[in-house]
Amino acid sequence: MAYDNISTEVIHGGISLDEYTGSVNVPVYLTSTFKQDGLGKRRRGYEYARTGNPTREALEKLIAELDGGVAGFAFASGLAAIDAALSLFHEGDEILTSENVYGGTFRILDQVFSHFGITGRMAHTEDPAKFETEISEKTKAVLIESPANPLMSITDIRAIADVAHAHGLTVIVDNTFMTPYLQKPVELGADIVVYSATKYLAGHSDLVAGLVVVTTEELKERIAFLQNSIGAVLPPFDSWLLIRGIKTLSVRLDRHVSNAEKIADWLVANPGVKKVYYPGLKDSAGYEINRKQAKNGGAMMSFELTPDHDIEKFFESLKLVMLAESLGGVESLICHPASMTHASIPKDIREKVGITDQLIRLSPGIEDVNDIIADLDQAIQASRI
Ligand SMILES: *Cc1c(COP(=O)(O)O)cnc(C)c1O
Repeated sequence: MAYDNISTEVIHGGISLDEYTGSVNVPVYLTSTFKQDGLGKRRRGYEYARTGNPTREALEKLIAELDGGVAGFAFASGLAAIDAALSLFHEGDEILTSENVYGGTFRILDQVFSHFGITGRMAHTEDPAKFETEISEKTKAVLIESPANPLMSITDIRAIADVAHAHGLTVIVDNTFMTPYLQKPVELGADIVVYSATKYLAGHSDLVAGLVVVTTEELKERIAFLQNSIGAVLPPFDSWLLIRGIKTLSVRLDRHVSNAEKIADWLVANPGVKKVYYPGLKDSAGYEINRKQAKNGGAMMSFELTPDHDIEKFFESLKLVMLAESLGGVESLICHPASMTHASIPKDIREKVGITDQLIRLSPGIEDVNDIIADLDQAIQASRI
């Protein structure tokens, strides 16, 4: 990072100024190609916009700096970013993932990569000793989420990275829920960090984007090759919007987190709530490990209503908090993992890992916390059977 503090870096990092005009924001370069001054004579290295676009490059430099990586890459979605990272592997290779991995990550391994002989398997990344026994001859990488969606289970990233590296595995961390403001996977041993930038990084529920950060020159070359060869690049306007979103990352997250802490305490004290999953709660399973590796518990949480509540009635009764997929926007969003985000995971596996039908996932926005609590309160009361 060029600055000591990430709250400054999010605003001034990467390429934050247009050298040509002095414009304080990097322009949106709406061009598909770049004039060459002679054979092999490219101005500033650009030739075709799938390979490189200045607006996208400003974003890519920014995320690399924020995460302390060697290079960053921007993709058309979080899943396109994950697709590129998984495309590093070959037929016969196996990828282990955290148990509550994002549904789409499970699906792309289970239903797409499996066709090419690359298989995924869920492992107990929250238990390093058990995880080590789950590594096979074929295992080439581990993909960690911490906190993992939707039960907010915590993995000791450094401990898993140490075990994984001892077996020659590549360590990939999906840091979507924390962002580099709250957690720096590279400092904890990650080789590759992936993001759905659709969530907190963009922060306004106005675009779909993905990012990859790599930590070696070799990975930089290979991901650059894959990004250009597969072609799922982030367009210039979306790159610009994402840069704008990242500028307010620290102020937004400070509010998201303080709202989340208050809401979690309120849910814990609510007799209609059976269990609250939030890594910022002192008695939550991963509290100590999370505190060691992240700034705080983040803003995502899940809770289970007691059986005397009608789950459909609960969602229908909400007036402010919106029932929607996704998370990390300025507006509070809520969802039903069993039928929405995790519906692509077969029911038997889902129930085994604890994603019950009474489970609700909440992404508190940055509204006044009293309004969010009042809305949850009236919906919980209205859904009593
Ligand atoms: C949303 C999400 C993804 C997928 O990202 P898209 O931008 O929707 O493609 C991957 N990982 C996590 C943890 C997510 O929340």
